[in-house]
Amino acid sequence: EKVIVNGELIERKDAVMDIEDRGYQFGDGIYEVIRVYNGKMYTAEEHLKRLYESAEKIGLKIHYQKDEIKSHAARLIDENMLETGIIYMQFSRGIAPRQHAFPLKDVACSYIAYTREMPRPEASLDKGVKTLLVEDIRWLRCDIKSLNLLGNILAKQKAAESDCYEAIQHRGEIVTEGSSSNVFIVKDGTVMTHPATNLILNGITRQVIQKVCAENAVPFVEKEFTVEQLLAADEVFLGSTTSEVMPIIQVDKTVIGEGVPGSMTRKLQELFSQHIQKECTL
Ligand code: PLP
Repeated sequence: EKVIVNGELIERKDAVMDIEDRGYQFGDGIYEVIRVYNGKMYTAEEHLKRLYESAEKIGLKIHYQKDEIKSHAARLIDENMLETGIIYMQFSRGIAPRQHAFPLKDVACSYIAYTREMPRPEASLDKGVKTLLVEDIRWLRCDIKSLNLLGNILAKQKAAESDCYEAIQHRGEIVTEGSSSNVFIVKDGTVMTHPATNLILNGITRQVIQKVCAENAVPFVEKEFTVEQLLAADEVFLGSTTSEVMPIIQVDKTVIGEGVPGSMTRKLQELFSQHIQKECTL
């Protein structure tokens, strides 16, 4: 099993991290997760664009070109013979004596990447999943794909303890997003999701869903909706790189619709699968 550490392809067992790496100490860094289907990266350009945007937002300089990172990822897929799975990549502000302010000298960022096999979640995609409502206690820059995930972790843990697949977070009355996904409702044939503000991560899956809706004349609006609207929706689903278009059949104790994935969700799953096919056929 090979991994990338600071641009070098090495054996995983040889990878070491300094105890004063700022990613490790402060969560001072950013990351991306890219899906791999048929040994090919899915929406890699979009993920890498967001990676550089996240870096820019926290004043982190990535001293690698996009194409370098892409070719590292392609080499990892090759070497590890990955067919279906993910690439995880993270960049921290580097190694320096611990102090909160940025390192004074021009300290290079730390860059690691690895692959993991991960099948498509077929059973859940077919049957749908249960979710738990959790108050969104995160900071006000959720648009940054930051390594700091404590709020997300605590939300997901609550969901896991209730045997739920995902936590649906809300700030007061307004539904924001999942702990690691975006949330969508369908009402009278219109798909609705929280606008891409500082309060959510603008998911790449969200962007693909938006695109296929536009291409197929499916009404799609970016608009805040309430917990009440969520519970009264015809259909609810979530979107993420690892979970794709995942039907939600229950929120807390409330069964959504008929308690089975709805027709719009099924249609969007089909359009999403077609998009994967288009990008990642052999
Ligand atoms: N929102 C949060 C908080 C996430 O962590 C993620 C992804 O992990 C998403 C949304 C979905 O983003 P994407 O579709 O790019 O995976």
